[in-house]
Amino acid sequence: MKHVVLRAVLQAPPTAADFVVCAAPVPACPAGGVLTQVLCLSLDPYVGARLRGRHMGEPPPSPNVEPIPGAVVGRVLESDAVGIAPGDFIHSMMGAWGEVVAIGPGMARRIDPELAPLSAYLGVLGMPGLTAWAGATKLAKVGSGDVVLVNAAAGAVGGSVGQIARLKGAERVIGIAGGPEKCGLVVDRYGFDVCVDSEASDWPSGLDAALGGRGVSVHFENVSAAMLAAGMSRLSPYGRVVLCGLADHYQAETGSAQIPIGLIIAKRAQVHGLVVYDFYDRWDAFLMEASPWVRDGRLCIAEDIATGLDNAPAHFEKLMQGRNVGKSIVVVNAE
Ligand code: NDP
Repeated sequence: MKHVVLRAVLQAPPTAADFVVCAAPVPACPAGGVLTQVLCLSLDPYVGARLRGRHMGEPPPSPNVEPIPGAVVGRVLESDAVGIAPGDFIHSMMGAWGEVVAIGPGMARRIDPELAPLSAYLGVLGMPGLTAWAGATKLAKVGSGDVVLVNAAAGAVGGSVGQIARLKGAERVIGIAGGPEKCGLVVDRYGFDVCVDSEASDWPSGLDAALGGRGVSVHFENVSAAMLAAGMSRLSPYGRVVLCGLADHYQAETGSAQIPIGLIIAKRAQVHGLVVYDFYDRWDAFLMEASPWVRDGRLCIAEDIATGLDNAPAHFEKLMQGRNVGKSIVVVNAE
């Protein structure tokens, strides 16, 4: 079987050339865990930060030894886990970039392929969907009449935030995304009222036009301090802000992102930092609420798919450069 490792310790933002796809022995099934054939691999922005030791204190994988970490869905080959049998489909956040992975005790959850396509468990029904659900419903508590602004709106988190906000009664849902293709997806598939193209030089005027004189009652930040300032300067008094991600800062070499603290006072804002780990114990509650939305087409899926583990490095470079349109997935083995 094949897996993917780092060629050397990273000194710069990851590119495809930093990875090696190589042959590796099939791992043993761990005590209490499962051995899984990987069907789909999730590529996520945090992995880029993790590979440089910049994510939540988690160490980068050892070059040429440990496979790159990543969430997976797969078919169980061998199981020593209670309640999981060979042939079952599982999701795990503790997978890796490999054709077959060993997953430790308690780290795999069974998933139902009848409920949604398997890859959806990496996106709208996976960690990004849980992030969006937690931020929108548990932290910002989006409800009737809200005006919601979210950036990186074509992605799995941003796209789900806007759609969930709408399902929770938001009156106006405004996205910001980079380029016409992403903006088209946000409006035509996800059903946002409007999407402002952040690649247009006058995008702040576009944002003002989209707001039509209204204030933002919920701002959901995925991208940068500059975008946060733009959203917060348009916040209504007592507006809520969810600080979820800073994709534009993850690979920066100097300086740290500055939160506009004066605006917090001026707007009487409630600012919530979001770490999805805090909501892992509510995954079942999230699935119970979100699965029917996915089944009925009220929570749409858009995926940016590459096929074959050999193409994972190039697909990851695309994600790192923000060129992905939708949830970045690698189909490793056909079902
Ligand atoms: P996306 O598919 O949205 O991809 C990231 C997007 O960020 C890009 O497509 C791009 O969209 C935007 N972006 C802006 N500047 C850059 C840059 N310099 N490099 C790369 N991307 C850039 O990812 P997700 O939906 O998976 O995640 C969205 C955000 O949520 C990320 O910041 C992620 O880290 C965060 N997150 C946080 C979690 C938490 O627990 N706090 C959990 C999960 C995700 P555009 O062109 O539209 O600007």
